[in-house]
Amino acid sequence: MRKPILIANWKMNGSLHSNQALLVRMLAKLRPFRKTIDMAICPPFPYLFQVRDLLGYTGIALGAQNASRATSGAHTGEVSATMLHEMGCRYVLLGHSERRALYHESDDDVAARFQQVLSAGLIPVMCVGETLEEREQGWTMKVVQRQLQTVIDQCGMSGLAGSIVAYEPIWAIGTGRTATPEQVADTHRAIRQFLENCETGAGQSVRIVYGGSVKAANAAALFSSPEVDGGLIGGASLQADEFSNIGAALANTVNPVTSTLT
Ligand code: PEP
Repeated sequence: MRKPILIANWKMNGSLHSNQALLVRMLAKLRPFRKTIDMAICPPFPYLFQVRDLLGYTGIALGAQNASRATSGAHTGEVSATMLHEMGCRYVLLGHSERRALYHESDDDVAARFQQVLSAGLIPVMCVGETLEEREQGWTMKVVQRQLQTVIDQCGMSGLAGSIVAYEPIWAIGTGRTATPEQVADTHRAIRQFLENCETGAGQSVRIVYGGSVKAANAAALFSSPEVDGGLIGGASLQADEFSNIGAALANTVNPVTSTLT
Protein backbone atom coordinates (compact mmCIF):
# COMPACT_ATOMS: atom_id res chain seq x y z
CA MET A 1 0.00 0.00 0.00
CA ARG A 2 1.53 3.32 -1.08
CA LYS A 3 1.02 6.18 1.36
CA PRO A 4 -0.12 9.34 -0.48
CA ILE A 5 2.12 12.37 -0.32
CA LEU A 6 1.43 16.07 -0.78
CA ILE A 7 4.42 18.26 -1.63
CA ALA A 8 4.45 22.06 -1.63
CA ASN A 9 6.77 23.75 -4.11
CA TRP A 10 6.98 27.39 -3.08
CA LYS A 11 9.23 28.18 -6.05
CA MET A 12 10.96 31.58 -5.61
CA ASN A 13 8.32 33.06 -3.33
CA GLY A 14 8.12 34.09 0.30
CA SER A 15 9.78 36.21 2.95
CA LEU A 16 10.57 35.57 6.60
CA HIS A 17 7.38 37.36 7.55
CA SER A 18 5.02 35.79 5.02
CA ASN A 19 6.44 32.28 5.51
CA GLN A 20 5.74 32.46 9.21
CA ALA A 21 2.15 33.63 8.72
CA LEU A 22 1.51 31.04 5.99
CA LEU A 23 2.92 28.13 7.94
CA VAL A 24 1.25 28.92 11.24
CA ARG A 25 -2.16 28.87 9.55
CA MET A 26 -1.34 25.97 7.24
CA LEU A 27 0.05 23.69 9.96
CA ALA A 28 -3.04 24.15 12.10
CA LYS A 29 -5.28 23.26 9.19
CA LEU A 30 -3.17 20.28 8.07
CA ARG A 31 -3.01 18.79 11.55
CA PRO A 32 -5.93 16.32 11.08
CA PHE A 33 -4.29 14.74 8.01
CA ARG A 34 -0.77 14.24 9.33
CA LYS A 35 -1.16 10.54 10.03
CA THR A 36 -3.12 9.74 6.89
CA ILE A 37 -0.84 11.29 4.29
CA ASP A 38 2.81 12.30 4.06
CA MET A 39 3.47 16.00 3.52
CA ALA A 40 6.50 18.09 2.66
CA ILE A 41 7.25 21.77 2.17
CA CYS A 42 9.96 22.86 -0.30
CA PRO A 43 10.83 26.51 0.33
CA PRO A 44 13.61 28.48 -1.39
CA PHE A 45 17.07 27.63 0.01
CA PRO A 46 17.46 30.69 2.29
CA TYR A 47 14.31 29.75 4.20
CA LEU A 48 15.12 26.09 4.83
CA PHE A 49 16.29 26.86 8.34
CA GLN A 50 13.21 28.92 9.19
CA VAL A 51 10.80 26.36 7.75
CA ARG A 52 12.61 23.48 9.45
CA ASP A 53 12.12 25.22 12.80
CA LEU A 54 8.47 25.98 12.16
CA LEU A 55 7.76 22.41 11.05
CA GLY A 56 9.36 21.19 14.27
CA TYR A 57 7.84 17.89 15.35
CA THR A 58 4.71 18.16 13.19
CA GLY A 59 5.84 15.18 11.11
CA ILE A 60 5.67 17.33 7.97
CA ALA A 61 8.95 16.99 6.13
CA LEU A 62 11.30 19.58 4.73
CA GLY A 63 12.31 19.48 1.08
CA ALA A 64 14.50 21.47 -1.28
CA GLN A 65 13.85 22.59 -4.84
CA ASN A 66 17.10 21.37 -6.37
CA ALA A 67 20.60 20.10 -5.54
CA SER A 68 23.94 20.48 -7.22
CA ARG A 69 25.45 17.78 -9.42
CA ALA A 70 28.76 18.47 -7.67
CA THR A 71 29.75 17.27 -4.22
CA SER A 72 31.61 20.39 -3.08
CA GLY A 73 34.18 22.95 -4.20
CA ALA A 74 34.33 25.68 -6.82
CA HIS A 75 30.65 25.82 -7.82
CA THR A 76 29.57 29.34 -6.91
CA GLY A 77 25.84 29.60 -6.38
CA GLU A 78 25.26 25.86 -6.05
CA VAL A 79 23.99 23.97 -3.00
CA SER A 80 25.09 20.38 -2.39
CA ALA A 81 22.85 17.50 -1.42
CA THR A 82 24.98 16.92 1.68
CA MET A 83 24.27 20.49 2.81
CA LEU A 84 20.56 19.88 2.30
CA HIS A 85 20.78 16.72 4.33
CA GLU A 86 22.53 18.65 7.10
CA MET A 87 19.73 21.24 7.02
CA GLY A 88 17.18 18.52 7.74
CA CYS A 89 15.76 17.99 4.26
CA ARG A 90 14.17 14.67 3.43
CA TYR A 91 13.13 15.29 -0.19
CA VAL A 92 14.66 17.14 -3.13
CA LEU A 93 12.78 18.14 -6.28
CA LEU A 94 14.77 17.33 -9.40
CA GLY A 95 14.26 18.03 -13.07
CA HIS A 96 11.43 20.51 -12.53
CA SER A 97 10.36 21.82 -15.93
CA GLU A 98 11.28 25.37 -14.90
CA ARG A 99 14.83 24.14 -14.21
CA ARG A 100 14.93 22.30 -17.52
CA ALA A 101 13.47 25.17 -19.58
CA LEU A 102 14.88 28.29 -17.90
CA TYR A 103 18.21 26.96 -16.64
CA HIS A 104 18.93 24.42 -19.37
CA GLU A 105 19.18 21.36 -17.15
CA SER A 106 19.51 18.40 -19.48
CA ASP A 107 18.43 14.82 -18.75
CA ASP A 108 22.08 13.98 -17.97
CA ASP A 109 22.35 16.94 -15.64
CA VAL A 110 19.21 15.90 -13.78
CA ALA A 111 20.50 12.34 -13.48
CA ALA A 112 23.82 13.58 -12.03
CA ARG A 113 21.90 15.62 -9.43
CA PHE A 114 19.73 12.58 -8.74
CA GLN A 115 22.85 10.55 -7.95
CA GLN A 116 24.06 13.20 -5.51
CA VAL A 117 20.71 13.29 -3.77
CA LEU A 118 20.65 9.51 -3.39
CA SER A 119 24.24 9.47 -2.10
CA ALA A 120 23.32 12.03 0.55
CA GLY A 121 20.52 9.75 1.79
CA LEU A 122 17.72 11.98 0.53
CA ILE A 123 14.65 11.08 -1.50
CA PRO A 124 14.54 12.50 -5.03
CA VAL A 125 11.23 13.76 -6.37
CA MET A 126 11.87 13.25 -10.06
CA CYS A 127 9.77 15.58 -12.21
CA VAL A 128 8.88 14.39 -15.68
CA GLY A 129 6.47 15.67 -18.28
CA GLU A 130 5.86 16.71 -21.84
CA THR A 131 5.18 19.98 -23.64
CA LEU A 132 1.79 20.60 -25.21
CA GLU A 133 3.24 20.02 -28.66
CA GLU A 134 4.70 16.68 -27.54
CA ARG A 135 1.34 15.61 -26.12
CA GLU A 136 -0.45 16.58 -29.30
CA GLN A 137 2.05 14.55 -31.32
CA GLY A 138 1.33 11.55 -29.06
CA TRP A 139 4.86 11.60 -27.64
CA THR A 140 4.04 11.88 -23.93
CA MET A 141 5.40 8.49 -22.91
CA LYS A 142 8.34 8.72 -25.30
CA VAL A 143 9.44 11.90 -23.49
CA VAL A 144 8.70 10.62 -19.98
CA GLN A 145 10.50 7.32 -20.64
CA ARG A 146 13.54 9.16 -21.97
CA GLN A 147 13.65 11.30 -18.81
CA LEU A 148 13.33 8.26 -16.54
CA GLN A 149 15.70 6.08 -18.58
CA THR A 150 18.55 8.59 -18.21
CA VAL A 151 18.24 8.28 -14.43
CA ILE A 152 18.11 4.48 -14.65
CA ASP A 153 21.22 4.46 -16.86
CA GLN A 154 23.17 6.59 -14.37
CA CYS A 155 21.75 5.48 -11.02
CA GLY A 156 20.32 2.04 -11.70
CA MET A 157 16.74 0.92 -11.31
CA SER A 158 17.27 0.58 -7.55
CA GLY A 159 17.95 4.34 -7.45
CA LEU A 160 14.77 5.23 -9.29
CA ALA A 161 12.75 2.70 -7.30
CA GLY A 162 13.63 4.61 -4.12
CA SER A 163 12.34 7.91 -5.46
CA ILE A 164 9.03 9.64 -6.02
CA VAL A 165 8.04 10.37 -9.61
CA ALA A 166 6.11 13.60 -10.22
CA TYR A 167 4.22 13.63 -13.50
CA GLU A 168 3.96 17.30 -14.41
CA PRO A 169 2.76 18.05 -17.93
CA ILE A 170 4.56 21.31 -18.74
CA TRP A 171 1.48 22.82 -20.33
CA ALA A 172 -0.36 22.51 -17.00
CA ILE A 173 2.24 24.08 -14.70
CA GLY A 174 1.34 27.54 -13.49
CA THR A 175 -1.04 27.95 -16.43
CA GLY A 176 -4.34 27.29 -14.70
CA ARG A 177 -4.86 24.52 -17.23
CA THR A 178 -4.97 21.02 -15.71
CA ALA A 179 -4.74 17.64 -17.33
CA THR A 180 -8.04 15.80 -17.12
CA PRO A 181 -8.32 13.09 -14.45
CA GLU A 182 -8.37 10.55 -17.31
CA GLN A 183 -5.17 11.94 -18.87
CA VAL A 184 -3.49 11.85 -15.46
CA ALA A 185 -4.62 8.31 -14.67
CA ASP A 186 -3.63 7.04 -18.14
CA THR A 187 -0.16 8.57 -17.96
CA HIS A 188 0.44 7.36 -14.40
CA ARG A 189 -0.63 3.87 -15.46
CA ALA A 190 1.78 3.99 -18.41
CA ILE A 191 4.62 5.17 -16.12
CA ARG A 192 3.85 2.29 -13.74
CA GLN A 193 3.94 -0.17 -16.61
CA PHE A 194 7.30 1.22 -17.73
CA LEU A 195 8.71 0.90 -14.18
CA GLU A 196 7.31 -2.61 -13.85
CA ASN A 197 8.94 -3.61 -17.16
CA CYS A 198 12.26 -2.32 -15.81
CA GLU A 199 12.01 -4.12 -12.48
CA THR A 200 9.28 -6.42 -11.21
CA GLY A 201 7.48 -4.76 -8.32
CA ALA A 202 8.68 -1.21 -9.04
CA GLY A 203 5.45 -0.36 -10.82
CA GLN A 204 3.51 -1.01 -7.64
CA SER A 205 5.97 0.38 -5.09
CA VAL A 206 6.96 3.77 -6.56
CA ARG A 207 4.78 6.71 -5.59
CA ILE A 208 3.70 8.72 -8.63
CA VAL A 209 2.25 12.15 -7.87
CA TYR A 210 0.60 14.64 -10.21
CA GLY A 211 1.50 18.32 -10.52
CA GLY A 212 0.02 21.05 -12.67
CA SER A 213 -2.46 23.70 -11.50
CA VAL A 214 -3.92 21.53 -8.74
CA LYS A 215 -6.39 23.53 -6.65
CA ALA A 216 -8.88 22.74 -3.91
CA ALA A 217 -11.63 22.78 -6.54
CA ASN A 218 -10.08 20.11 -8.80
CA ALA A 219 -8.05 18.09 -6.27
CA ALA A 220 -10.67 15.45 -5.50
CA ALA A 221 -11.17 14.64 -9.18
CA LEU A 222 -7.43 14.55 -9.93
CA PHE A 223 -6.71 12.33 -6.91
CA SER A 224 -9.66 10.02 -7.54
CA SER A 225 -7.69 7.41 -9.50
CA PRO A 226 -5.78 4.78 -7.48
CA GLU A 227 -2.91 5.42 -9.93
CA VAL A 228 -2.36 8.87 -8.34
CA ASP A 229 -0.39 8.84 -5.09
CA GLY A 230 -0.59 12.53 -4.32
CA GLY A 231 0.31 15.95 -5.64
CA LEU A 232 3.14 18.37 -6.21
CA ILE A 233 1.56 21.75 -5.68
CA GLY A 234 3.00 25.07 -6.83
CA GLY A 235 0.86 28.21 -6.73
CA ALA A 236 -1.83 26.80 -4.45
CA SER A 237 0.77 25.88 -1.82
CA LEU A 238 1.21 29.59 -1.10
CA GLN A 239 -2.33 29.82 0.26
CA ALA A 240 -2.96 28.07 3.55
CA ASP A 241 -6.64 27.35 2.96
CA GLU A 242 -6.17 26.15 -0.62
CA PHE A 243 -3.29 23.87 0.29
CA SER A 244 -4.96 22.41 3.35
CA ASN A 245 -8.15 21.75 1.39
CA ILE A 246 -6.02 19.95 -1.21
CA GLY A 247 -4.59 17.96 1.72
CA ALA A 248 -8.11 17.16 2.85
CA ALA A 249 -9.03 15.93 -0.62
CA LEU A 250 -5.97 13.66 -0.69
CA ALA A 251 -6.56 12.33 2.82
CA ASN A 252 -10.15 11.70 1.82
CA THR A 253 -8.96 9.14 -0.74
CA VAL A 254 -7.61 7.09 2.18
CA ASN A 255 -9.97 7.86 5.00
CA PRO A 256 -13.25 9.41 3.85
CA VAL A 257 -14.77 9.40 7.32
CA THR A 258 -12.33 11.63 9.16
CA SER A 259 -11.06 13.80 6.31
CA THR A 260 -13.46 16.59 5.60
CA LEU A 261 -13.00 19.76 3.62
CA THR A 262 -12.75 22.84 5.83
C1 PEP B 1 4.94 23.04 -9.80
O1 PEP B 1 5.60 24.08 -9.72
O2 PEP B 1 5.49 21.94 -9.63
C2 PEP B 1 3.51 23.15 -10.07
C3 PEP B 1 2.82 22.04 -10.22
O3 PEP B 1 3.00 24.42 -10.13
P1 PEP B 1 1.44 24.82 -10.19
O4 PEP B 1 0.73 23.99 -9.16
O5 PEP B 1 1.42 26.29 -9.88
O6 PEP B 1 0.97 24.51 -11.57
